[in-house]
Amino acid sequence: QVTIKDVQKSFRRGETTVPVLRGLSCEFPSGTFNFVVGPSGSGKSSLLYLIGALDQPTSGQIEIDGRKISTWSETEANHFRANQVGFVFQSFNLMSNLSALDNVLVPFMPQGLTSTKRKEAEELLKLVGMGHRLTHKPNHLSGGEQQRVAIARALLKKPQLILADEPTGELDSQTGREVFNYLRLLAGQNQSTVIVVTHDESYMQPDDYVHRISDGRLIETTQVSESGQC
Ligand code: ATP
Ligand code: MG
Repeated sequence: QVTIKDVQKSFRRGETTVPVLRGLSCEFPSGTFNFVVGPSGSGKSSLLYLIGALDQPTSGQIEIDGRKISTWSETEANHFRANQVGFVFQSFNLMSNLSALDNVLVPFMPQGLTSTKRKEAEELLKLVGMGHRLTHKPNHLSGGEQQRVAIARALLKKPQLILADEPTGELDSQTGREVFNYLRLLAGQNQSTVIVVTHDESYMQPDDYVHRISDGRLIETTQVSESGQC
């Protein structure tokens, strides 16, 4: 469970302070699939950075399973980022000099790399339809294939939390749908909580939560009904 309590976030721009999140409160129940939607500039990416402990709120609290991020030591925060969160971003952030398989293994290099992990990474790539692309470098892969590598990389550590920022932003809708199907499949296996920022509401399915943000505040949370409406 991720709980956001009255979070404010401001950025300094020259002499002025620009408020981006203005008292946002929101809940993401454990094991659920969540969408964060809202206009450009409303603070969606900023919110994901805060939840991933990549940045700190100006005020307010973020709790992961009841533990306040603000009270963590740097060691605890590093452990959380390294082991408990999988990040998937729009620009895939793959290493161009490494094969698909080695890219998936990056979070485990060099200390945590075992033959078991290597086998798991291969299985994961097969699961997302990339079994025939293990040794390909990113520039020999299509956008959808690169995104599947990025998802496999995020999920190899079986994170309790998956944060995805426009993961299908650069893909056509058919490929985007496939990427979402893989994300759901792998998240379901680990009972991960998934939080996805997207502009495309066609990826939503019954029971998903939709959190609508505007001007740095939560406007409403709805659950997608059986008929696909929210
Ligand atoms: P989009 O849909 O376009 O991705 P968003 O909802 O993700 O938008 P954010 O990226 O969270 O919006 O940005 C919200 C506001 O905060 C923007 O006005 C942006 O310029 C500002 N902002 C974000 N990060 C920083 C930063 N590191 N320094 C200064 N301003 C920032
Ligand atoms: Mg954004």
